[in-house]
This record gives sequence, C-alpha cells and structure tokens, in this order.
Amino acid sequence: MTRLALGIDLGGTNLRAAVLESSGSVLRRMSISTDAGGGPSVIIAQMLHLASALGGLEGIDAVGVSAPGPLDSGTGCIIAIPTLPGWENYPLRQVLAEKFARPVILENDGIAAAFGEWTYGAGRGLSHMVYVTVSTGIGGGVVADGRLLRGARGMAGHIGHMMISPDGPRCACGGTGCFEAHASGTAFSAEARKAGFADARAVVKAARTGDAAAVALVEREADLLGYGFASLLHLYAPQRLVVGGGMSDALDLMQDRIMAQINRLAMPPFRAVDVVRAALGDNCGLVGAAALALLPSI
Ligand SMILES: [Zn+2]
Repeated sequence: MTRLALGIDLGGTNLRAAVLESSGSVLRRMSISTDAGGGPSVIIAQMLHLASALGGLEGIDAVGVSAPGPLDSGTGCIIAIPTLPGWENYPLRQVLAEKFARPVILENDGIAAAFGEWTYGAGRGLSHMVYVTVSTGIGGGVVADGRLLRGARGMAGHIGHMMISPDGPRCACGGTGCFEAHASGTAFSAEARKAGFADARAVVKAARTGDAAAVALVEREADLLGYGFASLLHLYAPQRLVVGGGMSDALDLMQDRIMAQINRLAMPPFRAVDVVRAALGDNCGLVGAAALALLPSI
C-alpha cells in the first residue's frame, strides 16, 4: 500500500517541504526563505504554512524533518544550530508531533540526505557508502554494513569538522583547519573573490572555457576534496562516495584530480571506489527525512 510522508528540510537559507510517496516519488514540493532570525516559533509557523500550502495533512502518515546539527535524533531535540539563533536544546520533534498530530522523526540533514541517496538515489543497493555535501559548509552521512551510522546522540558523520591541517583557517565550529574551513563552497567562494571572480559559479563557468586562473582554483578545490575523501575511505571503507551540494555542479571538472589525490594518498586496497554525483539534488535531505519517517527504522 502506498504511504505518504511530509518531508521538511530546515536550512539556514531555505525551508523546503515535499510530499513523498513510499515509492520515492515526490508528489509536491515547495521552498521558501527561512526566517532565520525569527527563532523556533516563527520557523515552526513557516513549517505549518508549507504543510497547508502543499495540500494539508490529510492522507499523510508521518512527518520527517531534517535540520542542521548537532541534534539528538534519539530524543528529537535540536542541541544547537550555529547558523540559526534560538534553537538551543529545543524539543522540535515533540512540538511538531503535537502540531501535526502525526508521528514525527528528526534527523541530522547530512544523515537524512545520505539515507535519501541510499534509498532512492546514487547509493541504491550498496551496503557501504559515504555521502558528502559540499555547499555553504561540508556535511554528510555514512552507511556502513547496510545501516545508517548514527553514533552517540546521533551525531556521527560531521565530516566537515575532520581536521585537515592544525594551523589552517578558522572554522565556523570554533576549531581550525577543518575540512569545511578549507574546502566548503564558502571557502571556495572566498578564494574566487581574492582572484577577482564574482563568485564560485563564475569560476566554474570560466574553468569550463579553459580560463587558467579559474582552472587553477578548481584544481585546488579538487585537491582539498581529495585530501578529505582519502581520509573518509580509510575511516569507512565505502564502495561509493556520493557528492552533493552546490559544489557538486563542478564534480565533472574535479573528478580526475580527486581520483589522483585518492590514488596518491589512500592505501591501495581503498582506492577501488566510485566518486559520483548525488542523484536527488536539492531534494536529498527532504526525501531522506520523509523516507526515514515512512520506512522501518534502520
Ligand atoms: Zn569545524
């Protein structure tokens, strides 16, 4: 029997919602700007607005919410969101379960996206995969031995904060030299502006025409991603590394260079891995959260 879930993806910039069938089809979808400064009460009102704009809750069996971490998926509480004020220790799952009168699950956005790609996207059929999103920050999620890796309080897979260099740039998390501080879309955009480009998109466009400065920036980004990915291979031994987020638009330009770094840095048995682009695009967090709400807990 077809079941339906409402998926909600709370991001620092956009608040997205969609109705998902258990087959994986997205029936309806909407996105609005997150009222980031409004705090929980305003953003929850935005979520209710999206739910009703998508046709209301009739026929919806469950609700899945993905949000930036750290959050505790076991208790359904946000621990804190660096990019959104006012969410410290907020019991989001409980509040939404009362508002929606439906079962609600809350999951870290990287883990939800990993589940979406594993269930319906580029990781289908695998027992071991790592999903990495390279956008404003770097996040991700790990599937190992045919199950989602959650860790204590559901916090595993914050791979953006894996340290690449102890004396590297300051990271949003308070540390220095994190993978995210080096290789996120934000870091790439900062380098782009230093080199006189308007933004990351302009660099990628120029690199496609062979512009030397743009190619150098893209190659540097590919090297940085390769350093992090080689560590991920050693840690999790995935069969496939699935790359999402805005920077994955340039994955085709970076692929050879990333593989060259993997072949240089990873021990030989770890090199037999595909690095592929995510299949669900912007929808992966949404779809993953909705799927987690529908499918038996894995
Ligand atoms: Zn960090």
